[in-house]
Amino acid sequence: MMQEETVLSREFDGSFIRKLRRGVREKLGYSVGERAVPEEIEKTLDDAVAAIEKYTVFRVIYRVLPVGKIDERGIHTKAGMIKSVMLSRIARQCKGKRFAAFMVATLGGEYEGIGDARESLTERFVFDMAGSECIEMAADVLEAEWKKGVKSRDFAYSLRFSPGYCDWPLEGQAVLFNALDAGRIGVRLTPHSVMIPKKSISAVALMAEEVPVVSPCVFCQKGDCPWRRGAPDKEDKKLVR
Ligand code: SF4
Repeated sequence: MMQEETVLSREFDGSFIRKLRRGVREKLGYSVGERAVPEEIEKTLDDAVAAIEKYTVFRVIYRVLPVGKIDERGIHTKAGMIKSVMLSRIARQCKGKRFAAFMVATLGGEYEGIGDARESLTERFVFDMAGSECIEMAADVLEAEWKKGVKSRDFAYSLRFSPGYCDWPLEGQAVLFNALDAGRIGVRLTPHSVMIPKKSISAVALMAEEVPVVSPCVFCQKGDCPWRRGAPDKEDKKLVR
């Protein structure tokens, strides 16, 4: 399995941009046909989308490393330990050789500067929301593409996880930045583990011949969690409450 870094970049096509507009309207609470989008918001969204088309190129860097020891506290790789009980449980249930695929993706910093320069708080909010939606959607597209390649090699994979979510502390960013030279796509980490530019995401996915559980949410009973991906397994005696 490949261990060298790969860098990809993409521009956004018309269908991506249409989905982006729909996604931002929904996140702002204006689902299709339910409520008309106020003129000021629609105009700002037009500006934000135009700025995304003009100033952003989606860039991603990724690398696949073998998983070493897996203990109750986490997963060891040569880039460091992924300290998450949840991910460790997923890894322990995998069959065959296990790998960790590390990824950092960004929209770059130019777009952020344009949004931050807006005077109105509402406009800054819409720009920020459009940037966040865009980076998540772009990462989904890339992940789907990458996973097709993984599948063609007869490997299965988990969902992607980011430091700062579930039980993986934000300091886990250090492992990703050890695994990858994210500076190649213009992303750096502050001493407080925050990525600059802000519209960047980092994540890891587990790969193995068999990955019976793809989401930690099956081990977790936090019913009100907005990020839930999958229902809890009622039979599981070790559910986190
Ligand atoms: S329900 Fe929420 S906290 Fe629990 S594992 Fe899923 S994403 Fe994490």
